[in-house]
Amino acid sequence: MDTIVAVSTPPGRSAIGVVRLSGPASLQILRVLVQQDQFTPEPNRVTLKSLLVNEDVLDQCLVTYFQAPHSFTGEDMVEISCHGSPVVLRQLIDLIQSLDARLAEPGEFTLRACRNGKMNLTQAEALRDLINAQTQAAAIQATRQLSGELAQALQPCKQELIRMIVIMESAIEFVEDDLPSIQLDELQETIDRLTTDVSSLAETYRAGHLLRDGLGVAIVGRPNVGKSSLFNRLLRFERAIVTDVAGTTRDSLTESISLQGIPVSFTDTAGFREAGDKIEAIGIERTRRAMADADLLMLVIDGSCSLQDEDQEILDVVGEQPFVVAINKTDLPQVSRVNNFNGAKVVHVSALTDEGIPELTAAILEPFGSLDSASAGLLITDSRHHDLLTRAKSSLQAASRSMDQRASEEIVVADLHNALKFLGAITGETTSEQILGEIFSTFCIGK
Ligand code: GDP
Repeated sequence: MDTIVAVSTPPGRSAIGVVRLSGPASLQILRVLVQQDQFTPEPNRVTLKSLLVNEDVLDQCLVTYFQAPHSFTGEDMVEISCHGSPVVLRQLIDLIQSLDARLAEPGEFTLRACRNGKMNLTQAEALRDLINAQTQAAAIQATRQLSGELAQALQPCKQELIRMIVIMESAIEFVEDDLPSIQLDELQETIDRLTTDVSSLAETYRAGHLLRDGLGVAIVGRPNVGKSSLFNRLLRFERAIVTDVAGTTRDSLTESISLQGIPVSFTDTAGFREAGDKIEAIGIERTRRAMADADLLMLVIDGSCSLQDEDQEILDVVGEQPFVVAINKTDLPQVSRVNNFNGAKVVHVSALTDEGIPELTAAILEPFGSLDSASAGLLITDSRHHDLLTRAKSSLQAASRSMDQRASEEIVVADLHNALKFLGAITGETTSEQILGEIFSTFCIGK
């Protein structure tokens, strides 16, 4: 195994910059850096040392040695906390690279921790999610998963699968021992129960995905209905320029806030008007893209005037995606009070007086269920986990169908093996090298 090095703190100037080394040459490299052949620091203790380049002191640093296997990666590791000067850090990394170490790939420290049994794949992914968490709720979910909760939740299911596979494989091996029907019934009941368990867990992805990745809302409507004003109200600051000149918003603006712990990004779109010039044409193209990317559309209509052809045109386009309708300007005399638009939730609001803004917020979050992360159970937050749970569920359903039809044990066992393989891939036991590479490439360098 080679030795890897990376700066683990973000790029740029900072008070401290941490350089991490992992691998068999870590301690020897540290000795060269401090120019002391016999330097053997006590593991897990911080020591103040001068790092030297020839005769010159590069920096005074705090160095810590973690002895294998008692380290994050399970290998010998060294952490050097220098002053956070990009120049010093660059020089140090160059020096270390000339001393039997290479630059780490993204997530390579964590990959090594997994390979050495320090954590399973779901925990490694949780670590990445914790670092990337955009809200407290997302951080809470990541911490839960970091403690191995998902792996623990899957364990009974995997054990049941193994028990059933053993029973069925021995029946296959000893041909004369046909399984009695009472045992077949018990096996089928267990398969159906596991299907329900796996399915319920997979269903939590809807909420979990929102907690982690957030909800994208595109605000659409014809010019001057108050899109930018509502955008500013929802964000609680004046982000977009508001004027009574139609077409003021010529490009899409996106800002994120946390609504009840869910990161919600609002995009104020430029509108759909026939493009008057090149800039407007680009703006309109961006509106279409923002709409396609959004989880939810918020259609704004001006309640102080009658529904116009342009509102109807937009409504026709919007109707293909989940949407809510905000009838704005309730502070002005209203033309009519519509309460239903193609079955979508309608909220009457005023961006001027704030009336209806809490109801609008609730309507935006409503289709996604109650997401109080503190009281929520374990949630699936990762699309990879969701995909594997869905596949495991399909395999279990196939096994159940085969049992119904009294198909041969070989067929049922093959499906049970598949279900086990999919569940094992969640925790990394049966994950291919290629998939592992793809997962860890989404990590930061130095983690
Ligand atoms: P957009 O083109 O859809 O983004 O609309 P703006 O947010 O730029 O608003 C257009 C005009 O309508 C501005 O003069 C706003 O002050 C006004 N406006 C927006 N919301 C309200 C509201 O709730 N009540 C009233 N009376 N005027 C509003």
